[in-house]
Amino acid sequence: MSAKDFSIMKQEDLLVQRSGNQCELCEATENLKVYEVPPATGNMDDAVLICPKCLAQIEKKKELDNNHWQCLTTSMWSEVPAVQVMAWRMLNRLRNESWAAESIDMLYLDEERLAWAKASGDHENDSTVDLHKDCYGAILQNGDAVVLTKSLDVKGSTINAKVGTVVRNIRLVPDNTEQIEGRVEGQQIVILTKYLRKQG
Ligand SMILES: [Zn+2]
Repeated sequence: MSAKDFSIMKQEDLLVQRSGNQCELCEATENLKVYEVPPATGNMDDAVLICPKCLAQIEKKKELDNNHWQCLTTSMWSEVPAVQVMAWRMLNRLRNESWAAESIDMLYLDEERLAWAKASGDHENDSTVDLHKDCYGAILQNGDAVVLTKSLDVKGSTINAKVGTVVRNIRLVPDNTEQIEGRVEGQQIVILTKYLRKQG
Protein backbone atom coordinates (compact mmCIF):
# COMPACT_ATOMS: atom_id res chain seq x y z
CA MET A 1 0.00 0.00 0.00
CA SER A 2 1.39 3.39 -0.96
CA ALA A 3 1.44 6.37 1.34
CA LYS A 4 -1.31 7.94 -0.75
CA ASP A 5 -3.67 4.98 -0.34
CA PHE A 6 -2.99 5.08 3.33
CA SER A 7 -3.92 8.73 3.65
CA ILE A 8 -7.12 8.23 1.63
CA MET A 9 -8.10 5.38 3.89
CA LYS A 10 -7.44 7.43 6.97
CA GLN A 11 -9.56 10.26 5.65
CA GLU A 12 -12.45 7.90 4.96
CA ASP A 13 -12.13 6.42 8.45
CA LEU A 14 -12.14 9.89 9.91
CA LEU A 15 -15.30 10.88 8.04
CA VAL A 16 -17.07 7.59 8.79
CA GLN A 17 -16.40 8.16 12.44
CA ARG A 18 -17.39 11.83 12.35
CA SER A 19 -20.66 11.16 10.50
CA GLY A 20 -21.66 7.97 12.28
CA ASN A 21 -21.38 6.35 8.83
CA GLN A 22 -24.19 8.29 7.20
CA CYS A 23 -24.50 10.92 4.49
CA GLU A 24 -23.58 14.17 6.21
CA LEU A 25 -26.23 16.04 4.22
CA CYS A 26 -29.23 13.68 4.15
CA GLU A 27 -28.40 10.83 6.57
CA ALA A 28 -28.63 8.11 3.90
CA THR A 29 -26.45 5.12 4.75
CA GLU A 30 -25.79 3.36 1.42
CA ASN A 31 -22.77 3.68 -0.90
CA LEU A 32 -21.23 6.64 0.88
CA LYS A 33 -18.27 8.38 -0.69
CA VAL A 34 -15.75 10.98 0.39
CA TYR A 35 -16.40 14.26 -1.40
CA GLU A 36 -13.61 16.84 -1.25
CA VAL A 37 -15.38 20.14 -0.95
CA PRO A 38 -13.91 22.27 -3.75
CA PRO A 39 -11.62 24.10 -3.92
CA ALA A 40 -9.59 21.49 -2.06
CA THR A 41 -7.81 22.82 0.99
CA GLY A 42 -5.69 19.73 1.59
CA ASN A 43 -7.06 19.33 5.11
CA MET A 44 -8.44 15.87 5.75
CA ASP A 45 -11.54 17.13 7.47
CA ASP A 46 -12.45 19.58 4.71
CA ALA A 47 -14.40 16.85 2.99
CA VAL A 48 -17.85 15.38 3.55
CA LEU A 49 -19.17 11.86 3.46
CA ILE A 50 -22.12 11.85 1.05
CA CYS A 51 -24.52 9.50 -0.72
CA PRO A 52 -24.86 9.05 -4.51
CA LYS A 53 -28.16 10.95 -4.59
CA CYS A 54 -26.67 14.08 -3.03
CA LEU A 55 -23.52 13.77 -5.15
CA ALA A 56 -25.34 13.54 -8.49
CA GLN A 57 -27.30 16.70 -7.72
CA ILE A 58 -24.30 18.58 -6.34
CA GLU A 59 -22.41 17.77 -9.52
CA LYS A 60 -25.40 18.78 -11.68
CA LYS A 61 -25.82 15.33 -13.16
CA LYS A 62 -29.42 15.22 -11.99
CA GLU A 63 -32.07 17.89 -11.56
CA LEU A 64 -32.38 19.28 -8.06
CA ASP A 65 -35.05 17.47 -6.06
CA ASN A 66 -36.65 20.05 -3.78
CA ASN A 67 -38.05 17.41 -1.41
CA HIS A 68 -34.72 15.65 -1.05
CA TRP A 69 -32.93 18.83 -0.02
CA GLN A 70 -35.27 19.58 2.88
CA CYS A 71 -32.59 17.53 4.68
CA LEU A 72 -30.45 20.68 4.67
CA THR A 73 -32.68 22.33 7.26
CA THR A 74 -31.18 19.79 9.68
CA SER A 75 -27.66 19.29 8.33
CA MET A 76 -26.96 23.05 8.06
CA TRP A 77 -26.66 23.04 11.88
CA SER A 78 -23.71 20.64 11.75
CA GLU A 79 -20.59 21.86 13.56
CA VAL A 80 -18.41 20.61 10.70
CA PRO A 81 -17.25 23.52 8.51
CA ALA A 82 -17.27 21.42 5.31
CA VAL A 83 -20.90 20.40 5.93
CA GLN A 84 -21.89 24.01 6.64
CA VAL A 85 -20.24 25.11 3.41
CA MET A 86 -22.01 22.45 1.33
CA ALA A 87 -25.35 23.22 2.99
CA TRP A 88 -24.89 26.93 2.28
CA ARG A 89 -24.06 26.29 -1.39
CA MET A 90 -27.00 23.97 -1.97
CA LEU A 91 -29.42 26.26 -0.12
CA ASN A 92 -28.29 29.06 -2.41
CA ARG A 93 -28.97 26.96 -5.49
CA LEU A 94 -32.46 26.35 -4.08
CA ARG A 95 -32.99 29.97 -2.98
CA ASN A 96 -36.14 30.37 -5.12
CA GLU A 97 -37.87 28.07 -2.65
CA SER A 98 -39.06 30.03 0.39
CA TRP A 99 -37.90 27.37 2.89
CA ALA A 100 -34.38 27.55 1.44
CA ALA A 101 -34.27 31.35 1.44
CA GLU A 102 -35.36 31.35 5.10
CA SER A 103 -32.68 28.80 5.97
CA ILE A 104 -29.93 30.88 4.34
CA ASP A 105 -31.00 33.83 6.46
CA MET A 106 -30.59 31.71 9.58
CA LEU A 107 -27.29 30.09 8.63
CA TYR A 108 -24.41 32.17 9.91
CA LEU A 109 -20.93 31.49 8.50
CA ASP A 110 -17.95 33.43 9.77
CA GLU A 111 -15.92 35.42 7.27
CA GLU A 112 -13.45 32.65 6.52
CA ARG A 113 -16.10 29.98 5.98
CA LEU A 114 -18.23 32.32 3.91
CA ALA A 115 -15.24 32.99 1.64
CA TRP A 116 -14.71 29.24 1.24
CA ALA A 117 -18.41 28.72 0.56
CA LYS A 118 -18.36 31.33 -2.19
CA ALA A 119 -15.07 30.18 -3.72
CA SER A 120 -16.63 27.60 -6.02
CA GLY A 121 -19.14 30.02 -7.50
CA ASP A 122 -21.79 27.32 -7.02
CA HIS A 123 -24.04 29.59 -4.99
CA GLU A 124 -24.60 31.75 -8.07
CA ASN A 125 -26.18 28.85 -9.92
CA ASP A 126 -29.84 28.18 -9.42
CA SER A 127 -31.81 24.99 -9.31
CA THR A 128 -31.69 24.53 -13.06
CA VAL A 129 -29.01 22.21 -14.32
CA ASP A 130 -27.54 21.98 -17.76
CA LEU A 131 -27.88 18.41 -18.85
CA HIS A 132 -27.18 16.85 -22.21
CA LYS A 133 -30.50 15.50 -23.49
CA ASP A 134 -31.50 13.63 -26.63
CA CYS A 135 -34.24 14.79 -29.01
CA TYR A 136 -36.90 13.31 -26.70
CA GLY A 137 -35.48 14.86 -23.54
CA ALA A 138 -33.80 11.72 -22.17
CA ILE A 139 -30.65 12.52 -20.17
CA LEU A 140 -27.41 11.47 -21.88
CA GLN A 141 -24.27 10.34 -20.11
CA ASN A 142 -20.70 9.59 -21.10
CA GLY A 143 -20.47 6.08 -22.52
CA ASP A 144 -24.07 5.95 -23.76
CA ALA A 145 -24.98 4.59 -27.19
CA VAL A 146 -27.17 6.80 -29.37
CA VAL A 147 -29.00 6.45 -32.68
CA LEU A 148 -28.91 9.16 -35.33
CA THR A 149 -32.35 10.61 -36.12
CA LYS A 150 -31.03 12.60 -39.09
CA SER A 151 -28.47 11.68 -41.73
CA LEU A 152 -25.14 13.36 -41.14
CA ASP A 153 -23.30 14.91 -43.99
CA VAL A 154 -20.10 16.14 -42.42
CA LYS A 155 -18.51 18.95 -44.35
CA GLY A 156 -14.92 18.43 -45.33
CA SER A 157 -15.09 14.69 -44.76
CA THR A 158 -16.32 11.57 -46.49
CA ILE A 159 -18.60 10.70 -43.60
CA ASN A 160 -22.14 10.06 -44.67
CA ALA A 161 -23.93 8.43 -41.77
CA LYS A 162 -27.57 7.51 -42.38
CA VAL A 163 -30.53 7.82 -40.04
CA GLY A 164 -30.49 4.86 -37.66
CA THR A 165 -26.70 4.67 -37.40
CA VAL A 166 -25.70 3.67 -33.87
CA VAL A 167 -22.90 5.62 -32.24
CA ARG A 168 -21.46 3.89 -29.20
CA ASN A 169 -19.55 5.22 -26.23
CA ILE A 170 -20.34 8.90 -26.71
CA ARG A 171 -18.58 11.67 -24.81
CA LEU A 172 -20.47 14.74 -23.61
CA VAL A 173 -18.92 18.03 -24.74
CA PRO A 174 -18.31 19.98 -21.52
CA ASP A 175 -19.94 23.41 -21.37
CA ASN A 176 -22.11 22.73 -24.39
CA THR A 177 -25.22 20.67 -23.76
CA GLU A 178 -26.14 20.79 -27.45
CA GLN A 179 -23.17 18.66 -28.47
CA ILE A 180 -21.68 15.24 -27.94
CA GLU A 181 -18.68 13.57 -29.52
CA GLY A 182 -18.70 10.13 -31.02
CA ARG A 183 -16.90 7.91 -33.47
CA VAL A 184 -18.58 7.57 -36.86
CA GLU A 185 -16.91 5.61 -39.65
CA GLY A 186 -13.69 5.63 -37.68
CA GLN A 187 -13.61 9.37 -37.13
CA GLN A 188 -14.32 11.29 -33.96
CA ILE A 189 -16.93 13.94 -34.74
CA VAL A 190 -19.22 16.35 -32.93
CA ILE A 191 -22.92 15.54 -33.23
CA LEU A 192 -25.80 17.78 -32.18
CA THR A 193 -27.95 16.25 -29.46
CA LYS A 194 -31.13 17.30 -31.29
CA TYR A 195 -30.28 14.82 -34.05
CA LEU A 196 -29.99 11.74 -31.87
CA ARG A 197 -31.85 9.58 -29.43
CA LYS A 198 -30.53 7.45 -26.63
CA GLN A 199 -30.44 3.75 -27.46
CA GLY A 200 -32.26 1.31 -25.24
ZN1 LIG B 1 -27.19 12.30 0.87
